[in-house]
Amino acid sequence: MIALALLAAALQADSLRLVVGGRDSAIVARADAQATFVAADAAVAALGGRLQRLPNHRYLLSVGGVAFEITDRVPFALSDGRLFPLIAPARERDGRLEVPVQLFTDIAPRAGARLRWDPRRQRLSAVPERVATSAVPTAPVPSATRASPSPAASRTPRSARRRVIVVDAGHGGRDPGMRGWSPERTPVREKDVTLGVALQLEEELERRGYAVIMTRRTDTLIALDDRGRIANRSKGDLFISIHVNAANPKWRDPQAARGFETYFLAEAKTEDERRVAQMENEVVRFETDADAPKHDPLGFIINDMAQNEHLRESNDLAASIQTALRRVHPGPSRGVKQAGFRVLVKAYMPAVLVEVGFGTNGSEAAFISSASGQRSLAVAIADAAAEYLARYEQRVGGDR
Ligand SMILES: [Zn+2]
Repeated sequence: MIALALLAAALQADSLRLVVGGRDSAIVARADAQATFVAADAAVAALGGRLQRLPNHRYLLSVGGVAFEITDRVPFALSDGRLFPLIAPARERDGRLEVPVQLFTDIAPRAGARLRWDPRRQRLSAVPERVATSAVPTAPVPSATRASPSPAASRTPRSARRRVIVVDAGHGGRDPGMRGWSPERTPVREKDVTLGVALQLEEELERRGYAVIMTRRTDTLIALDDRGRIANRSKGDLFISIHVNAANPKWRDPQAARGFETYFLAEAKTEDERRVAQMENEVVRFETDADAPKHDPLGFIINDMAQNEHLRESNDLAASIQTALRRVHPGPSRGVKQAGFRVLVKAYMPAVLVEVGFGTNGSEAAFISSASGQRSLAVAIADAAAEYLARYEQRVGGDR
């Protein structure tokens, strides 16, 4: 439900509501293909902060007790020696600095600023100093939106509605995904591995009491955009897409590449992240008009208003999955990564894409295509999803 409300809000948002000292004001937000921007001076003024112009197109932006150094056309905000990636570079327009809204809704609260972003109401508020001395709330839904729970209730969150987990087996049908070989030269097709792991994951999650929605349960091709739509329609709480990695043949020793990695949706930062996103987005060439509307595979928009709310959650889920997989996987952890995956764009909920191993490495191909390997991968991912949801419910008090 919240996912759909967010979708509507994100698509219509051309202003950002700001609340300071109970006073409600709105400033204009401008969305382009990269991000949603606001004029830094207007936002800072409304939030009781300060914007200072420094030499060489640099700015010092102070808000909620935290100062950021921002530079025109640089996609980072620097605060107290920490570098925060911006979803798009800051920019000067008609002599005014514009910054992605993400700086206020996501980065500033993470950096400790006394700001609170309510994605449900698309509302940003400044938290008074005395209230915020201990900690800035990190829950995505502020408790102000409902009756405050008693201390007992917050210790033992009341049982929430049954959580819905959407499991997406990558590729399928005429899109085989990557191809590899086991050491016995048995062909390994990504679409079979992903379905095998996904079906096991379904069983594991159901055993833990979750409702599971599968985007596919047979060898068929579902358009990338439809996978997210399925997730939204079924009011999913989590979206987990399963894939198999492939080494770049141009690497020095492509067959040696091993390991597992989990992605969340954000702009790719490294060449390797871009490679994986490109590989996984390429499936659109298998999709006909019957499957999906015409689109340019890389021309999609990462809608930061909607995705920002889930950035931290998705990152958290990805980290849990990496930790759990480390317990069962013979290969190394390649870490939590970020890239622009089309399959994740349409899912308005915490969403990750797991590359369960390299099909181009013989021993890993054998592991991920064996029934026992798939079972242990599924158990680990199910454990991680359960851990993540337990933490999430602690934070929001079992209510959403
Ligand atoms: Zn794939």
